[in-house]
Formats: sequence, C-alpha cells, structure tokens
Amino acid sequence: MLTKSHDIVIVGSGLAGLRAAVEIARSSDADVAILSKVQLMRSHSVCAEGGTAAMMQPEEGDSLELHAWDTVRGSDFLADQDVVMRFVEAMPKEILLLEHWGIPWSRRPDGRINQRAFGGHTFDRAVFAADKTGFFEMQTLYDTLLKYARVTHYNECYVTSILLEDGEFRGLTVWDLTTGEFFLLRGKALILATGGACRMYGFTTYSLTATGDGLAMAYRAGLPIKDLEFVQFHPTGLVPSGILITEASRGEGGYLINNQGERFMSEYAPSKLEVAPRDIVSRSEITEIEAGRGFQGPDGLDYVHLDLRHLGAAKINERLPMIREVAMRFNFIDPILEPIPVRPAAHYFMGGIHTDIDGATPAPGVWAAGEAACVSLHGANRLGSNSTAECLVWGQITGAEAVKFIAKQKSLPPPPLESRLKEEEARIFSRFPAQGETNLFAIRRELQQIMDRQVAVFRTGPELQEALDRIQALKQSVSQMGVADRGRVYNTNLLAALEIENLLNLAEVIVAGAVVRTESRGGHARRDFPQRDDVNWLKHTLAHYTPSGPRLEYIPVKITLWKPVERKY
Ligand SMILES: Cc1cc2nc3c(=O)[nH]c(=O)nc-3n(C[C@H](O)[C@H](O)[C@H](O)COP(=O)(O)OP(=O)(O)OC[C@H]3O[C@@H](n4cnc5c(N)ncnc54)[C@H](O)[C@@H]3O)c2cc1C
Repeated sequence: MLTKSHDIVIVGSGLAGLRAAVEIARSSDADVAILSKVQLMRSHSVCAEGGTAAMMQPEEGDSLELHAWDTVRGSDFLADQDVVMRFVEAMPKEILLLEHWGIPWSRRPDGRINQRAFGGHTFDRAVFAADKTGFFEMQTLYDTLLKYARVTHYNECYVTSILLEDGEFRGLTVWDLTTGEFFLLRGKALILATGGACRMYGFTTYSLTATGDGLAMAYRAGLPIKDLEFVQFHPTGLVPSGILITEASRGEGGYLINNQGERFMSEYAPSKLEVAPRDIVSRSEITEIEAGRGFQGPDGLDYVHLDLRHLGAAKINERLPMIREVAMRFNFIDPILEPIPVRPAAHYFMGGIHTDIDGATPAPGVWAAGEAACVSLHGANRLGSNSTAECLVWGQITGAEAVKFIAKQKSLPPPPLESRLKEEEARIFSRFPAQGETNLFAIRRELQQIMDRQVAVFRTGPELQEALDRIQALKQSVSQMGVADRGRVYNTNLLAALEIENLLNLAEVIVAGAVVRTESRGGHARRDFPQRDDVNWLKHTLAHYTPSGPRLEYIPVKITLWKPVERKY
C-alpha cells in the first residue's frame, strides 16, 4: 500500500487544527501534514458567528477569576477547574496574536478591541468580527500558515481509521476522495481536531460535515470518550432550517417573546434574562411552548419569537449583518421589521475524546483539541464564545506538546501490520452490498428522529431506554446498507455510509451515558430526576468501546477553587 509520512499529522483544519499547525510551524522545523475531508478552508469553524471569549478589560472590572467563575458555574460544576484557569489565562494572548496576524476585530470608537455580551458571562467578553468571527479567524490562521513551506495540505482526504498497536500510534488510513487512492499516513505524533457530531440530530445548527468521525475512530481504536451525554441545544435555531441565529443577537439586546407578547425569560432567569446560559434558555423556551405559549411551526417545530426590531436598522446592519441576510434569504423575514421564529437546536457536544489538561489522550503520541476533545473545560454546559476560544488555546497547547514529543523520537514508530491495512481497505470498499436491504439515508433519518424526539432538551429514563434499543437495532442493519456507487472517486454514497455508522456508534455512547445518569445537570435535563445530585454524580463519564456496546466508568471532577453551589441567574 502507498505510504506517506510526516513528523506530525493533524486531522482537521478547523480552528483547532489550524492553530495547532501554526504553532508547530512557527516554533519548530517539523514536517507537518494537515488533513481535511473537505477543502481546508471549508471546515465547519468558518460558520462561527458571534465571538470568542477573553478577559481583555481588567481596568473596567473584568478579571480572569470572573471569567473562570462564569465558566465553572455555567458548566454546572462539571468543568475541571485547573483546566478552566489555564484557559482563561491563555486567552487574552491568543486574541492579541490573531490581531498581530491581521484579523479585523470589530473596534470601539476609541480604537480598542470591542467586546459584546454572551450568555452566562457577567461581563461583555466576546471579542468579535461583526457576526462572521469564525470566518475571519480561520482566514487569519490559514493565511498565516501559508507562510510556512514545511506544511503539507491534504484537501478532501477522508481518514478512515487510527491505527494503534500496543496502545501507540502507528498511522492513519486515508481515502483521497479526489483520486480514489487509499494510503497509509505515518507520523511520530498525531493531533485529532475533527470537530463535533451534531449531525446525528435533524434539527441542528451544524454543517453537514459534523459527523463525529474523529470521535468514532478514536473510540473504535480504544481511546475513551468522556461526558458525551451532555449535548448543548442552542436557544435560537431558525425554524424550520435550524440555521444558527447567533447568541450575539441577544447579546446586542434582542428579546425572546412568547405568543402572549411577554419577555418570558423574566420568569426563569430574572437577572440575566435572554443572556442566561444556553441550557436554561433552551429549557425555558420548551416550557413556554409546552404550556401553549409558543407559535405553531411546521412538522412539530413550534417556536418562540426573537425580536430585534427595537435595536434599529443601524445596529442590526453594523453588528448582525449576516443574521439579517440569513433571515431574509431563508425565511423572507427582515428582522428590522419582523421577529424571527426560533427554537432550541442541537448545537454542540460538551463531551469528546478524553484528554488531560495538555490535550494528551491516554495513547502516547496522540493529542486531541477543539470540539472533538474533552479536556473538561465546559463540563455539563458550555458558555457561548468559549468554544472558538478553546480551539485556539488547545490548538496552541497540543501543537507545542507534539513538538516537544517528536524531539525525543529519533525515527517513525514501526508501521502497522500489512494484514491490518488489507482488512481496513476491505472494511471500507468491500463491506457494503450494492443492493442492500436497508437504505442508508432512511437509517440516518430514523436516527435523527430518535435523537430529536427522545434525546433532546428534556429527557426521561423510559424514552432514553427506548432510544437506546432503537439505536442498537439500527446498528445491526449497518452491514446491510446498500451503496450503489462502487467507485472510489468522490463516492459520496460510500462516504455517507461511513459517516452514518460513526454517528450511530456515538449516539449509542450518548444515550448509554444519559440513561444511567439519574440527575439533571447542565445540558442533561431529566424530567424524572430534576435535581442535580452532587453526592452521586459529580463525576465524569468515560465510555470504552466493546463490540457489544460502551462500557462506562467514572472519574472525579477536579475542584480546586469553587465548591458546587445552587446555580441561579
Ligand atoms: C453555526 C455555529 C456558530 C457558532 N458560533 C460560535 C461562536 O460564535 N463562538 C464560539 O465560541 N463557538 C461557536 N460555535 C462553535 C464552534 O464554531 C465550534 O465548536 C468550533 O469551530 C469547532 O472547531 P474545530 O476546530 O474543533 O472543528 P471543525 O471546525 O468542525 O473542523 C473539523 C475538521 O475536521 C475535519 N474532519 C472531520 N472528520 C474527518 C475525517 N474523517 N477525515 C479528515 N478530516 C476530517 C473536517 O473536514 C474539518 O477540517 C458555533 C457553532 C455553530 C454550529
């Protein structure tokens, strides 16, 4: 089999992967490869809209401790507090680095970097570039990376498996979608920055590419997956498409209104109102809708209104131009004149590949960063604008750690066994029948319906158990999925089959963790166990792969500064 090799291999060219690549390139002479299953610059991160959190204004009253406390309280006390402190301390420098690399941050009239309010933050802390923050961050990192010749770009190359032997990294198997070539990619170190998996939901803010491949590959390779039962629902998914209406619309002063014309958040979070943390706002919206105070939407997508009209045309055009464009193009609504229909949409996975504070997985030579990783920054509920920030911080950290690691490795680790490569090639290209008993897109639709209905903002034990049974039954039908296209070049049929299998494996991990967690914490709200239970459940879930389903174990949360208290806003 064709083999290519580099010192460090990065899978994923979103914010986390690009930041890792820039760190390696600017601090070493390592030969780096960066791969993406789409064009590098088409990674999901370009969609990030509202901002990136950092403590930038100490003279106005913000502090690192306040940013850390907001994050810990927002996490419903499941965040590791040493990780949170490292994060808040690193962020101001990251904002200035991007500034030096050329990003056009939005400014105050006096020229200083502007910041806006975001949910759960007690200070205007989200640094932004209009409502296209992720795009400008990606562009800045990508341009910076182009300065370095030792970086090889693999566009539209799909990684199918991580090969570990004796617990150590031996290589990746890669399918080049543009040529159909299947090859082994070896390296001394690997950074996984493959993003999230929200596409297992039907109503989601996420790009079609967010299918959790990296998490699923890591899981299959034997790496533990942490806290996956905590899924974030963003309160303002546009109905019916699910496109995100950024939290910045509420940060800039937008109201949430029910069918009685009331700003209902005063009932649920009197001090923070619309900028309470997302888990609370999403539950409040569903409670209003279930009480008959919502508006009737298509296919059961009942909604509330996001009203921006009082902000005025000038502010909407300056601060939220993309939101206006999205509402006009997709819903024929001009937010200057009319409210926008919104409801909670699956938005983010707080869990991911288990790492330590340096982003290191239990396998020597393998790191994970960004949304694919769970360094335990967000606990049970992420605060808005802390994710792009996490990508920058742990992109930098994992890049630096990989450089240190390869300095001690004289040569590449031994290659994997040839038989494993042959098995993998057969698993990808010869497993699915051309005329299958099941239609892969029907399986995906059924998975999305299960997740939308039974693993949503509110959950119950019996519904979760039923969801688990149905997901396990769907898993049984994977090998019978028909893949009519037998080619290797741009075979999107086959690609979809592999992605669906990954989503099913991860859905099983989510639900298995959620069934047994008999408490409500952050994004995991059980109607049958409505209280947080710190005595029994102040702990992280680790899911380990077994052929018959995940094996769960638990590890403690690191509490260094703040003991859990009641969470009120
Ligand atoms: C609409 C929207 C708006 C958001 N706005 C904000 C915001 O304003 N602020 C904030 O903090 N957060 C925001 N978020 C969250 C944030 O954007 C993401 O969490 C973050 O960008 C994820 O970046 P990443 O680098 O981890 O992964 P991604 O950007 O998702 O990149 C993943 C990369 O992995 C590659 N990949 C995946 N699988 C494979 C495979 N098998 N083989 C090869 N390559 C693979 C992909 O091609 C891609 O290059 C938003 C999320 C959404 C959905």
